[in-house]
Amino acid sequence: MRAAAAAGADLAEVRVDLLSPEELPKWQEIVAGKCLPVIVTNRAAWEGGKWRGSDTERLQILAEAEGLGAEHIDVELAACEQFQSLRTAPLPGHFAKLILSHHNFERPLTKAEVETIRVEMRGAKADIFKIAMMATNALDNALVFETLATAEEPTIFLAMGEMGQVSRIAAAKYGAYLTFASVGAGRESAPGQVDTERLTSFFRFRDVNASTPLYGIIGNPVSHSMSPALHNTAMADKNLDGLYVYLKVDDDAADFIRKMSSLGFAGFSVTMPSKVDAMKAMDDIDPTTKGIGAMNTVVKQKDGSLKGYNTDWIAAISAIEDDLPSKSLAGLRVVCIGAGGAGRALAYGALERGAGQVVIVNRSKPKAVALASDLSKDRAIGMSLEEFNADADVNFDVVMNTTSVGMNPNPTQTPVVASKLARSPLVFDAVYNPVETRLLREAKANGCVVVSGFEMFVRQGAEQFRLWHPSVDPPLQLMRQTVAECLGIELPSL
Ligand code: NAP
Repeated sequence: MRAAAAAGADLAEVRVDLLSPEELPKWQEIVAGKCLPVIVTNRAAWEGGKWRGSDTERLQILAEAEGLGAEHIDVELAACEQFQSLRTAPLPGHFAKLILSHHNFERPLTKAEVETIRVEMRGAKADIFKIAMMATNALDNALVFETLATAEEPTIFLAMGEMGQVSRIAAAKYGAYLTFASVGAGRESAPGQVDTERLTSFFRFRDVNASTPLYGIIGNPVSHSMSPALHNTAMADKNLDGLYVYLKVDDDAADFIRKMSSLGFAGFSVTMPSKVDAMKAMDDIDPTTKGIGAMNTVVKQKDGSLKGYNTDWIAAISAIEDDLPSKSLAGLRVVCIGAGGAGRALAYGALERGAGQVVIVNRSKPKAVALASDLSKDRAIGMSLEEFNADADVNFDVVMNTTSVGMNPNPTQTPVVASKLARSPLVFDAVYNPVETRLLREAKANGCVVVSGFEMFVRQGAEQFRLWHPSVDPPLQLMRQTVAECLGIELPSL
């Protein structure tokens, strides 16, 4: 409990059923000697807890806890009647608040089931309603948010598991009575819990209220994403009200975006595999993004409509142009290695900026040829990586790698033979982990100017920040520092 207080908790839950056999005899001492207000819970095995004794013993402990001055007692809705019959005289003038709870660790509940549970809780005279259900789909959070936002009684409603984590982090926005957080990483009492320190500092839980705009990264996987750190740090630095969360979405991203933007989300970042599908939810798409055919940013506009953008291309192209002597790609010969999502965005961007020729090089040649003919009939051509590396006549102004070759855990790989780099003044690599790839190292050794995927990543986030907070400049240097911290490296000089 002292650790919970030190981590910034307002109250602590004493889970009697989780105490070890050595700790169990001391449960009264723990409650009586509390340094924070407490919820005392003794969860039945039939409700997902670990209590192995009889139900009567279990509930007697809770009744006794009330007598010891516990501020809240959590009792399963199904055991409420029995608990009420065991309740004895509390401390003079003290009544614990009764949290009646319902858990489903298997599946999400339907709206009708939630309504039935709430009617029963009302009938049983709960002071606080608590419902916890397992999320199996990101949209399960919508039921949580809608229920909380319209609840008349003090209510705790949580979707458990990674899919439901946002319901814990954003609970304050929807008026939840409280949220649960663990004492520290690895000490969660239910799946999906965040630790208290992270909840209060990284996610600024105490600053979140009904008017706080929400943002989040949609994709699968997203738990490794650096975007929450980038945006939460930047918003805090600029004193902006806002919370940015992880949104693991593996079904219909378009449906999710439509629903969540009606429930208080003001913007989304979109990553793999949803960059194309999510476009279906947009009312409007910026013309370059339409041309690229993939989007990584959603903005909810003032009139409530949704507009889609791609900030990847401008992030990479602006970083490249900043380091060119002419400050422009206009008229230059560019080679784009890779014909996947990043390749398409960068090749499109280079053509958009007036590159004289863009050669798209890909391991699978048909993809390179198809992309080239799709983007430009006269200024783009496609070839295979093999052909490119074998071709002696290479003279490009800019080499852009947009493949994952050279990325950890394979940092010894490179898509281009070193001898090809000698006559290219600038080499860009979309890979950001490691920041200095073998390609960039060899390019530097050949005297080229190098631009890293690290800078592209920071700038795509900065462009998103500009779209969401148009009157505030993004704190670029802080964003760089934050990304470097996420990668566990010193701020790179690339
Ligand atoms: P993608 O759509 O899956 O495309 C992958 C590309 O890499 C394809 O062209 C693929 O060629 C090629 N490739 C994969 N393995 C290869 C190998 N062993 N040898 C040769 N070519 C290979 O992925 P993406 O979204 O474009 O991402 C590509 C890279 O860009 C990733 O490393 C990603 O982290 C990075 N990226 C960075 C940023 C940033 O902000 N810095 C943003 C977006 C992406 P085939 O078509 O022949 O399979």
